[in-house]
Amino acid sequence: MYTNNIVLRANNLSKTFATNDIKIKALNNITININKGEFIAIMGPSGCGKSTLLNILGLLDDLSSGEVYIMGKQCNLLNDKQKTLLRKSNIGFVFQNFNLIEELTVYENIELPLIYLKLPVQHRQIRVQNILEKLKIAHKQNQYPTQLSGGMQQKVAIGRAIVTNPKIILADEPTGNLDSESGNQVMRILSELNSTGTTVLIATHSLKDAEYSNRIINMLDGRITSQNYGKEYYKGYVGEKNSES
Ligand code: ADP
Ligand code: MG
Repeated sequence: MYTNNIVLRANNLSKTFATNDIKIKALNNITININKGEFIAIMGPSGCGKSTLLNILGLLDDLSSGEVYIMGKQCNLLNDKQKTLLRKSNIGFVFQNFNLIEELTVYENIELPLIYLKLPVQHRQIRVQNILEKLKIAHKQNQYPTQLSGGMQQKVAIGRAIVTNPKIILADEPTGNLDSESGNQVMRILSELNSTGTTVLIATHSLKDAEYSNRIINMLDGRITSQNYGKEYYKGYVGEKNSES
């Protein structure tokens, strides 16, 4: 159903990490279809494979077997250069530890993905200014990450993730290192992005964060154990189905 709406798809995805003699099966036969505009929360205890799944879906890591499709393109058939281009033009990452570059200012951190995309300086300026205003962080643009609170750093990291207008945002425990008020702010920003059509996947331990989602995917030991659809999504899903038939 809705195959043209599927932005992200994993088919029988498995990942084994081999360190010395030990093999760890981090993902075991994961199959999921993620539709455009969904807001998904991946939940499960530490070590169940949430980060591994996000990293593989976002082409930051290779799979061991199975298939991943981004915007309908089968990624494991692409070479590294093609993968990088597909990732940079479609996916924005947000991490628990922000991963900002300490030597760069707020402005420069947000600008960086546009430099990688080889955008001319005037275009970069317009885009970065838009993001600074949208996230209400323009007054911090000349500061460095270490001068900022965790909540502010995560806003900058979100700015960096969305400055390329990605269709998909992958956020790995984005509120994990934040106080509850900053965490709420981050979740509201992700929610607003989602309401304008961006597909959002977060890994989280927080049920409060998961309440922003339309669908919760529960994982344990590298497998999906269950999925729950939120009421609102279910209503939307039925409505969409009716309007298409
Ligand atoms: P989660 O994000 O849910 O806490 P992870 O995806 O980080 O889980 O880890 C899943 C499993 O894979 C764990 O057993 C973890 O120790 C293992 N793992 C993750 N990354 C690596 C790696 N680079 N090398 C070896 N084992 C790894
Ligand atoms: Mg993790």
